[in-house]
Amino acid sequence: MSATFPPLAERLDGLQSSAIRDLLKLTSRADILSLAGGLPDAELMPRDRIAVAAAAALSDRSRLQYTESPGWGPLREVLATRESGRLGRTVPVDEVFVTHGSQQALSLLSEVLLDPGSLVVVEDPAYVGALQVFRAAGARIVAVPLDADGMRVDALRELLAAGERPAVVHTVSNFHNPGGVTLAPERRRELAELAQQYGFWIIEDDPYGELWFDRPSPDAVATYSPNVIRLSSASKILAPTLRAGWMVAPTPVCRAVELLKQGADLCGSALTQQITADLLADTDWLATHVDSVRKVYGERARALVSAVRDRFGDRVISTDAAGGMFVWVDFTDGTDTSALLPKALDAGVAYVPGNAFAVSTDYSHSMRLCFTTSEAAVLEDAVDRLARAHAAKA
Ligand code: PMP
Repeated sequence: MSATFPPLAERLDGLQSSAIRDLLKLTSRADILSLAGGLPDAELMPRDRIAVAAAAALSDRSRLQYTESPGWGPLREVLATRESGRLGRTVPVDEVFVTHGSQQALSLLSEVLLDPGSLVVVEDPAYVGALQVFRAAGARIVAVPLDADGMRVDALRELLAAGERPAVVHTVSNFHNPGGVTLAPERRRELAELAQQYGFWIIEDDPYGELWFDRPSPDAVATYSPNVIRLSSASKILAPTLRAGWMVAPTPVCRAVELLKQGADLCGSALTQQITADLLADTDWLATHVDSVRKVYGERARALVSAVRDRFGDRVISTDAAGGMFVWVDFTDGTDTSALLPKALDAGVAYVPGNAFAVSTDYSHSMRLCFTTSEAAVLEDAVDRLARAHAAKA
């Protein structure tokens, strides 16, 4: 007899498990070279430095205790100093809020800023972790496309002119996941002006900004308007296990998030927050560490992009991978990337088809490739396998 359980909440209707997580189960086979994952390279995470910081943190028993909901004070201070440098103004500690990864900031913010039916504008293709959160909040989601210069702010302007009134506009401003592109400086200004003019919030979701390869990423969108809530994270520069993300936001937003965080988890971990503070405050060590991550990822990105361009020529358009973790590739020859995937898996390579990130545009001819966890020679081998699968499809 099959069990019948009482119903779950209506807000779960229509929510789907992330297609990417489902796909990653398929691609974990040992014989598959995966360009599908979206993880930073564990080999580059500073395990020994974390061990030293952990030992220091554990010498104080109070690190085993609950801490304040907005985060352990000294970490907030270190973050306020860093963000002041990034934003070119003094960011008070009160405007810095530590979350369990920046994903929790997205989740708590959706409860603070959205009512069921509120309009959220996202980018297309979109960061699926944000889409899941906005969908769970019952938001109405409208997408504006990306191009080589990031969000098409002109398309947002048209939506506004047509009478749409978003509560929130979400943007991954630097080295987009999955789109690989960076929002151009003049568009940042324009976006911030629109937020002022029409009175909406911008969530500037920026976990990748420090992972630039050739030149630093542009000034943050938050430089230009107080309506910008800026999110960042230690996951990609230190280690995701620290679950240390942070938000810079006006005090009323921080206070509202605090109320909800109390209900969600009371507080974060004082232990990992002290470790994070220790590493972020060690500025000479940090600069050397982040530089070495940039160097390795930069080499891998260049190897992947040149292999893709070399093997596929004008049958693809690929982003340049100037930073971050991802390359976005559009096939110009009509290749359907979902149809190609089983053949690619047979050939021993995996990627994420573009439609996993699609909101309203059809990205069936696109794919996301991640270059972080394989060395250049392996990436080249992976692209060779992909080219074989592509040739076999004809
Ligand atoms: N935003 C974006 C755009 C991401 O790609 C990710 C991680 N994949 C996150 C937020 C969440 O990262 P974390 O919670 O580890 O800080």
